[in-house]
Amino acid sequence: MAGTPIFDQLVYIVGEITLILIIGFILLSIVVVALSFYSIRRGYFYLPRLVKSGIVATEGMAKGICKLLGLDDKEMTAFAIRLHNAMNQSDFEKVPADKRAIFIPQCLRNADCPAHLTPEGIICRRCGRCEIGSHVDSLEALGYHVWIAPGSTLIKRMVKQYRPQAVIGVGCMIEVREGLELLDKANIIGMGVVTLKDGCVETMMNWQDLMDTALLGLEPALNAENS
Ligand code: SF4
Repeated sequence: MAGTPIFDQLVYIVGEITLILIIGFILLSIVVVALSFYSIRRGYFYLPRLVKSGIVATEGMAKGICKLLGLDDKEMTAFAIRLHNAMNQSDFEKVPADKRAIFIPQCLRNADCPAHLTPEGIICRRCGRCEIGSHVDSLEALGYHVWIAPGSTLIKRMVKQYRPQAVIGVGCMIEVREGLELLDKANIIGMGVVTLKDGCVETMMNWQDLMDTALLGLEPALNAENS
């Protein structure tokens, strides 16, 4: 077989297809990076669906090109999260609060937090040492299911058990990006809120960012209740 005209032709065709795929991949990466770069600079999302799929499909290559252009990984990841949130926002707004869940990372707790870990995560004792307690109260008053999660295992278990239609995940950039990808795969509408400081203890976040996201789609219902 080897060395026959048919075999040579087959090798040639396979080589050509591979080359076309590689060139297509490089071109797609360049388009994705160019659109991302332009969107970040202009503060507007251009062709969001193409960019979102492109970022997932060409991640390694896109990152390499970004580095060449002076755009760091963090900026690209932050952009991907903002893009994800923008694309999910209208679907998220349609989900009633009692079908939504929020996962807050335990690292936001005070180092002297008296709460204990339970099978449902950390149950806040409202000791006032950190801002979690008061915000959990506000979010639960809106109708949310809120968990203080020690890690992704609890999140996966609670999502499986309670089957929320939409989830707000709070965490560092990498955690949020990975969480949003997992939620996408599970067909759950995900929104991400990134903490201001990474780490294992006493991290920080802008609670207003979380409240603003949590209130999406709920204002009309709240206004009707209050009128
Ligand atoms: S408010 Fe809640 S989470 Fe924060 S330190 Fe106190 S018990 Fe822990």
